[in-house]
Amino acid sequence: MGKKVLVILETKDGKLRHVSLEALSVGQTLSAGGQMVAVLFGPDSAAQVGEVSKYGPAKLYVVEGEAFASYTTDAFLQAAVQLVQTVEPDIILLGHTAIGKDLAPRLASRLGIGLLSDCTRVLQRDGQIVFERPIYAGKAFQQRVFQEGTLFATLRSNNFETNEQPCDTELIPFQPTVQDIRTTIRQIVRKTAQGVDLSEAKIIVSGGRGVKSAEGFKVLKELADLLGGAVGASRGACDAGYCDYGMQIGQTGKVVTPDLYIACGISGAIQHLAGMSNSKCIVAINKDPEAPIFQVADYGIVGDLFEVVPLLKEEFSKILQ
Ligand code: FAD
Repeated sequence: MGKKVLVILETKDGKLRHVSLEALSVGQTLSAGGQMVAVLFGPDSAAQVGEVSKYGPAKLYVVEGEAFASYTTDAFLQAAVQLVQTVEPDIILLGHTAIGKDLAPRLASRLGIGLLSDCTRVLQRDGQIVFERPIYAGKAFQQRVFQEGTLFATLRSNNFETNEQPCDTELIPFQPTVQDIRTTIRQIVRKTAQGVDLSEAKIIVSGGRGVKSAEGFKVLKELADLLGGAVGASRGACDAGYCDYGMQIGQTGKVVTPDLYIACGISGAIQHLAGMSNSKCIVAINKDPEAPIFQVADYGIVGDLFEVVPLLKEEFSKILQ
């Protein structure tokens, strides 16, 4: 019998997150012969309905109300619990984002079900759904199946194909009481500059301690802007005060999986590799031919980044013009 899949969608700055579209596309496959439904939260959700409906949920639930204008654990958790109890899905999917990481374990705990987080592949084998996720800081992958109960997983961004497919929409007015919400959002302070979201960027130009100064990051930003990408950093660069910790990639920073990762003046410490080694193509630029980053790089350039990056920029601008 076909499965019923519930996809919990997420928006950022008034736009659906790319990982939500990836989750819908995974949901389409897993619900073959069954049904996929999705849920959106927030007063501005109506604007997203057109986009979501392209990805084929049989039904889209829209949880309305000012309480959902910004993420709060209390409001989203209560609404999600109520929705799961109404929909009774066999499978729940959502993005492994900051919100996903906060909401998913609490939802699993409230529902008394298991959770597999940060999945990078979902396969179907011998009638079972197999979830694959990195372990040991990305050095190995484990495949897990649920023996019973609702299958619940969060998905890592940029790891799944998106497929459009055409849905019914149902509005759900949900008004939690003032006592229900224990947090109040007064102001959202953004740590990183506006631009391409690092965790969903297809191209990342990243700098390390070798960039030597905040000023040195300008040339990386120029290359990233030219390629439509985002700028990332190693912890070495963040600790040295060259850039904000919101840009840090690695074990204690963001985990990214872009199509192209250009590492400039980054040695390739294990903690940095934990955040980027699953990038589809890695280009490393480093003065030291023995730098460990070359062991994971698809293309290595031994040289001074301040000579190489402007040359790359020049050549790319010829192609992209
Ligand atoms: P360095 O190791 O100093 O490397 C600088 C590189 O730049 C060198 O290889 C050098 O050859 C090269 N270079 C210098 N000048 C130039 C030039 N002009 N052109 C080209 N190349 C040049 N690190 C992270 O990145 N992310 C994390 O999330 C993270 N989490 C950590 C968690 C823990 C618990 C610990 C203990 C450490 C963590 N670290 C993390 C730190 C990590 O161990 C390294 O110290 C850090 O990644 C080093 O940063 P780096 O490569 O920029 O600096």
